[in-house]
Amino acid sequence: MIDHISVPKREAQSILKALRNMNAINSGYKIIPDGDNVLIPIREAATLTHLDLPYRILKHEGNPDLSRSVRPLKFSGSYDVIGDIAIMKKGEQEDPEVLARNILESKKNVRSVFLDRGVKGEFRTRDLELICGEGKTKTIYRENGLRFLVDVGNVYFSPRLATERYIVAKSAEEGERIIDMFAGVGPFSITIASMKKCEIQAFDSNPAAVGLMKENMGMNRLKGKIFPQLGDASEMILKYRGMDRVIMNLPHSSFSFVEKAYEALRKGGVVNYYEIMDTALLEERMEKFREIGLEMRNKRIVHGYSKFLNVYSMELVRTLE
Ligand code: SAM
Repeated sequence: MIDHISVPKREAQSILKALRNMNAINSGYKIIPDGDNVLIPIREAATLTHLDLPYRILKHEGNPDLSRSVRPLKFSGSYDVIGDIAIMKKGEQEDPEVLARNILESKKNVRSVFLDRGVKGEFRTRDLELICGEGKTKTIYRENGLRFLVDVGNVYFSPRLATERYIVAKSAEEGERIIDMFAGVGPFSITIASMKKCEIQAFDSNPAAVGLMKENMGMNRLKGKIFPQLGDASEMILKYRGMDRVIMNLPHSSFSFVEKAYEALRKGGVVNYYEIMDTALLEERMEKFREIGLEMRNKRIVHGYSKFLNVYSMELVRTLE
């Protein structure tokens, strides 16, 4: 029996895109119509269960896609695809060039393959080495029906948060006043503003990210308003009070900013908090959040980071006046 996720037909396209970005589709099987729903075959039921999605995960005998399953597996190793660029993780393959050539051959839309030698500095940019292909770092990436101009050499961007951005946008109420503290090229802000009539202050200290965010606002149809601001989020946030939501996507150091986020919220307001943690640090953080006056409403693992570390997503609610 194969794991499937049952989703409404009208949402199927955007969910398929998000699942593809997470590399979570079991491509050896076909999608099965099921009344007003479709059943999408998935590879990682456990990961999706952690995401706490509002859709049912069930077992079904599956409909094998023979055109795919007879194809030999050409290579192994993990990589992300952002537009026409593939980024391989360091140290996951013995010969990066073999994997890179296989990616170029098998993924017709990929034109450059880079090796990621690590994310560094305040702007969280990747140290990239071109392995093969054109070597362009600017590309158009599509996610949840939206388009983003990204420069993988000069700004941080991860397609692994596609589902997360969709979940946060779905959970936001119409009219919310939001701060996106570490907005990058704007994927959280733009996903929310495309779905809800919210007002979003989007901060980033990287001028290249703020420039691309402004272009990305123009490339998508938005219901809400976004106000990009260049500078240090820990200073810019000080002039805001009574906000409904603060998004904190700076997984290496979010914690040092959390008290300022708390001050900016109204009672009942929400922090969407991201941090790389092991289980011991997770316990410690929960204790600290309680002391600050933030109650955890929800937590899920977004993706693994290393053997013992995961990127966690938490919804923290301000409980005090
Ligand atoms: N939220 C975006 C996304 O999902 O693609 C980007 C997240 S990235 C992990 C963190 C971003 O925070 C980077 O674009 C970096 O330039 C920015 N940043 C880091 N420290 C900052 C600070 N003190 N104030 C404002 N932005 C900051």
